[in-house]
Amino acid sequence: MAITLMNLPYEKDALEPYISANTLEFHHGKHHNAYVANTNKLIKGTNLENEDLEIIIKKSDGDDSRIAIFNNASQVWNHSFYWQCMKPNGGGSPTGPIAEKINADFGGYETFIEAFKAAGVTLFGSGWAWLILEDDKLKIIKTSNADTPIARGLKPLLTVDVWEHAYYLDYQNRRPDYLKSFVDKLINWNFVNSCLG
Ligand code: MN
Repeated sequence: MAITLMNLPYEKDALEPYISANTLEFHHGKHHNAYVANTNKLIKGTNLENEDLEIIIKKSDGDDSRIAIFNNASQVWNHSFYWQCMKPNGGGSPTGPIAEKINADFGGYETFIEAFKAAGVTLFGSGWAWLILEDDKLKIIKTSNADTPIARGLKPLLTVDVWEHAYYLDYQNRRPDYLKSFVDKLINWNFVNSCLG
């Protein structure tokens, strides 16, 4: 069964003015789509051809001969997760179980959000900032390029894509402004709560 490109969970212009339809046109329609096409091409004829995406990622992780499969498959997974981490009229303080967990593990929303934004700003080059759950504790981590926490059995709750293609059309070099929009206006806390549950 082929790996497929997930539909965006909202219209292409739904995140404007924070992320433009033009950005989503390229980011979902070209970049994410290319990772899907490349993954399908690369697994064809291998023993990963009929595996689920998460299995493909875990089985290619750390294998030098399968680094292209790992990179493309992980980028498929990371982007599908990232789209769900956003919604129109999102962002701001969370509610529900994640709000209590953030207070308990970070000492409050403001502390958490500053640390999350800092992770995104300081990731050198291309990659992702994540909120994950490890041993029932919330933790902020960064991964470079295509790397993904699920390769390591960690449980992702939230991610932001800090590859330049995620923000350059709207923010040019101003990655901190993109991260501010993401946390203040876009985070889908309902989705984060569903991942926690
Ligand atoms: Mn991306």
